[in-house]
Amino acid sequence: MTLKKFAQVGIDSPLRRLFDYRVPDTITELQPGSRVIIPFGKHTLVGIVIKLIDTPSIDANRLKTIQATLDDYAIFDTESFSLIRWAAHYYQFPLGSALFSALPPALRKAKQDEDSSSTEFRWQATTNTPNKTLARAPKQAIIYAWLQQHTHGVAPKQLRDQFPGCSTMIKALEQRGMIEQIEIIQPPDEPQTLAENFLQLTEDQSSVSDSILATLDTFAVHLLEGVTGSGKTEVYFSLITEALKSAKAQILILVPEIGLTPQLYSRLEAHFGMTIGLLHSNITEKQRKQTWLNISKGKIRIILGTRLAVFTPIPYLKLIVVDEEHDTSLKQQEGFVYHARDVAIYRAKQLSIPVVLGSATPSFESIHNAKLEKFQHLHLNKRVHSELLPKIQFADMRTEYAGSILSSLLCKAMHTHLEAGKQVILFLNRRGYAPALLCHDCGWVAKCVRCDANMTYHSKTDKLICHHCDSSKYKPEQCPKCASNNLIMVGHGTQRIEEVLSQQFPDYSTIRLDRDITRRKGSLEKILDEIHQLKHKIIIGTQILSKGHDFPDVSLVGVLDIDYGIHSSDFRAMERCAQLLIQVAGRSGRRSTQGEVLVQTHTPDHPLLQTLLHSGYPAFATQALQARENWKLPPFSHHIAIRARSQNSTDLFVFLERVADIARQLLPAEVSVQGPIVPSMEKKAGQFRAFILLVANQRGLFSQSIDACLNHIEILPETRKVRWSIDVDPIDNF
Ligand code: ADP
Ligand code: ZN
Ligand code: ZN
Repeated sequence: MTLKKFAQVGIDSPLRRLFDYRVPDTITELQPGSRVIIPFGKHTLVGIVIKLIDTPSIDANRLKTIQATLDDYAIFDTESFSLIRWAAHYYQFPLGSALFSALPPALRKAKQDEDSSSTEFRWQATTNTPNKTLARAPKQAIIYAWLQQHTHGVAPKQLRDQFPGCSTMIKALEQRGMIEQIEIIQPPDEPQTLAENFLQLTEDQSSVSDSILATLDTFAVHLLEGVTGSGKTEVYFSLITEALKSAKAQILILVPEIGLTPQLYSRLEAHFGMTIGLLHSNITEKQRKQTWLNISKGKIRIILGTRLAVFTPIPYLKLIVVDEEHDTSLKQQEGFVYHARDVAIYRAKQLSIPVVLGSATPSFESIHNAKLEKFQHLHLNKRVHSELLPKIQFADMRTEYAGSILSSLLCKAMHTHLEAGKQVILFLNRRGYAPALLCHDCGWVAKCVRCDANMTYHSKTDKLICHHCDSSKYKPEQCPKCASNNLIMVGHGTQRIEEVLSQQFPDYSTIRLDRDITRRKGSLEKILDEIHQLKHKIIIGTQILSKGHDFPDVSLVGVLDIDYGIHSSDFRAMERCAQLLIQVAGRSGRRSTQGEVLVQTHTPDHPLLQTLLHSGYPAFATQALQARENWKLPPFSHHIAIRARSQNSTDLFVFLERVADIARQLLPAEVSVQGPIVPSMEKKAGQFRAFILLVANQRGLFSQSIDACLNHIEILPETRKVRWSIDVDPIDNF
């Protein structure tokens, strides 16, 4: 079969189009999904072949020619390629860019490297060697003789080491048909499960596990709603064990943030005794590339990754697990905006395999889908080690305030638990010392000049830091407005709680866990270890604490301030707030004793909080979903946001008004076009921000004309003055 003469190529560019190139005669093999080097304007770029075509879209004489291929095989296999194609279309992102974002950074560059060749190989003397004399090529003769002695072949590197500068001679020998490349086929890892690592599943766990296993070779979405500590991870392990029984099978486990749960990696490694392919952004480029390639060759069978791993080519994928499926970190918010959970579901469907979504607090979308019976809803209602879930109570700050951020109720409880030798967690989702610095005399507040936000005072560095753009400056000695020395700190961040604790609980070792501390590599692991070794009795931390940790000796969790979440203008705030609360609460009482949770609030009578407290998360979700339905909010309607930002507010609004006009003209009348809407923080990092919200009762209403709409927007002259992006199924007000 002769190769088609032209290829459609995608490049890493915001342009929503592809480019045609001529395929030179020298390239004899080329497949969609392969990387090529192409001339582009004055530059040379890496492109990815999208399609081979007979007739180019422009005059063939004007086409440039592909310079070289970078891979001797398609770096994206058919399945991952079509997945990314789908995602690029669904999330309305340029296909070329989408493919590039799916590649590890080291493979986006125009550098041919040995590692990316499809197979590792050795040189071997051919068995039916043509009887050619090497009398006139003595060097080749030496190499050939040497290879004949090494009947199992010799790795290229070994050959180069033995005969420096031998590559032309090798080539000549190959052309003579005297030597050839032989592939080394490495058998994939086999699970080495050690018997002692097996836990006998409880009855509940087995029944959940069985109903998932019943669908092992078909598409099914299982929503595994299991209270914290109910042994979901153990269920995943039993599913993985089963899935691994089919030859070569690979399993993908997605988690919101790997850095936050180093435990899972070690648990997997210990349980299966196999290489675990780790994919996230906090490993070296080289390592990530190597792991990615090994996975794509089927050499690594268990893959643990963050959202970016969802697009990895996994040739023998048999099962996907999305842990903490409610977590917003599964959504990529910049560049190629996608939701890894939803992409995973599509992928499972495409492959006819099951996907398991696990959480103690499922997202409203998933609960809704379960109610519609699109997902199979499975439950683990009991903890493995403790009969009882933690007891949650409110500390009404209107009456319990005792001159300190710690209410008298909480203080009393802390003493009780600490004296019993237990650990206590205090949760506050605000790092730094104080969220505001204020002049007592004139009311001046330290604001960020680049954002509509107060600056947070950090005591360790004596600096004011903006948590939205990271700009910082030293704390002024005097009020810049009235020169008064009477500057006061308002409110509490985690650093200030540390100070309060050292005064109120001087006898107990305290540790702070927030992003300021964990930024240093390895420090999170170190602190987690120390907590497990009971070096610290009181742990004060931000949402990092809420993520999946299993601290056996924590029996009390104090949530210092929940009002912040309740009073937000975002309709999703209550859902997030409840999830966070239940997740943090879940850190308590994970062994034998019943845990206790105290939530400090000024609004204990809030009806949704009351439901959450007295009837639990499922009842809360049902009630809150009812409100969403009444207001026709997602998941009862579908949103697309077209966001824009600019240093110039007028440019921003001119652009968005144009966008709204186009949307009204081109989208069906049933789609409501709202905005420009200004987010509560309009200015961030020196840029004004606003968005247009497209709302449809049925997703299908978008599919007809959203492409046309965006094509129109893309060529608006106003785009030059703004940066804009599209967010399908947004999860944030901005
Ligand atoms: P989840 O992921 O639902 O929070 P885990 O899977 O981490 O829960 O389980 C909580 C704890 O219970 C872990 O320490 C785990 O080892 C233990 N565990 C889970 N299943 C069993 C079981 N069947 N028998 C004994 N211990 C179990
Ligand atoms: Zn002042
Ligand atoms: Zn700022």
